[in-house]
Amino acid sequence: MQPRRAGHPPPAITDVDERALAAWLREHGEPAYRARQIRRAFARSSAADWDGLTDLPKPLRAALAASFRWSAVEPVHEVESVDGETRKALLRLHDGHHIESVLMPHHGARNSVCFSTQAGCPMACAFCATGEMGLVRNLTTGEIVDQVRHWSRELAARGERVSHVVAMGMGEPLANLDAVVGAVRMLIDPELFGISPRRVTISTVGLVPRMDALAALDLPMNLAVSLHAPNDRIRRRIVPASRRWTIDEVLAASRRYVERTKRRVTFEYVLLAGVNDAERDAAELAARIRRLGRTADFHVNLIPVNAGPGGFERPPVERMERFAEVLQERGIAATLRISKGQDIAAGCGQLKVPEGRAARVGAEDLG
Ligand code: SF4
Repeated sequence: MQPRRAGHPPPAITDVDERALAAWLREHGEPAYRARQIRRAFARSSAADWDGLTDLPKPLRAALAASFRWSAVEPVHEVESVDGETRKALLRLHDGHHIESVLMPHHGARNSVCFSTQAGCPMACAFCATGEMGLVRNLTTGEIVDQVRHWSRELAARGERVSHVVAMGMGEPLANLDAVVGAVRMLIDPELFGISPRRVTISTVGLVPRMDALAALDLPMNLAVSLHAPNDRIRRRIVPASRRWTIDEVLAASRRYVERTKRRVTFEYVLLAGVNDAERDAAELAARIRRLGRTADFHVNLIPVNAGPGGFERPPVERMERFAEVLQERGIAATLRISKGQDIAAGCGQLKVPEGRAARVGAEDLG
């Protein structure tokens, strides 16, 4: 483990890998099996701090507390949607920056956590409040995992657990690939959180080389690709980061992801009135997806735009339904999804915290 620099807080335990923890235990004269015991405990216990791990001797708990923070995120406040289920948390990071994370329970059948991967986001999608902030910084693996731990503790109080995780909060997950993959590996580890990879979804605006890198990991996770347009002309206007790769290159990478992982890919499509919601847009999108072959490997999620920047408006319901029908008539599975939690600004494209230097980077930096 790196020596701690003066003035820096100790690392969060979720940012310490098993080997580093084992070395720390050796230095403190503790047996090696404690590493696994401690990692299992932080993943599964609903304790609020080190003192709650009563299976560990008190002096060890005190030494751990002096060397490692119990969590990389500190809850500031939470709001609940009028739907009575969706909750959004504002979480503080050790350097004073903030992120948001959302719990989306679904009638007792599932508990999905939507986590952030960056503070802010450099991608600047035209309809997105997070994109307006610019990039503040990448999150660490611990800062990602601890969003899930935050909700796990709340759910444990009512005898429930996190069943699904989606990387669709603040940030472009593939722009912070190593930390995201590190977090996913912890979340799917049966010894730790034990979430099935099939219940993990990573989203991207379509950073092609990193989509391939993700596929090469051979983890059967779901991939959600934010297309938002049927062609490059419209897409470049809505998703500026897409200038680096054409829509057909993004679609080809999606096909490669399916081939490698055997998972279906979801195409996310935010419906913006008068911009990308015409029948001819749906027909063009369908034709592009059909060219990929085996349309059953893909699904289109249609998301009516939420209130946010850009002054975009939601199309009338009949127009959105017609868009879905045009896709379905051409053999493309499509769902019109009304996102939850809009009253607490927890819907798609609505996450934002009151800070942020506008540090947008081009997709050129992300190859
Ligand atoms: S939609 Fe996603 S990728 Fe685009 S700016 Fe918002 S957070 Fe970033």
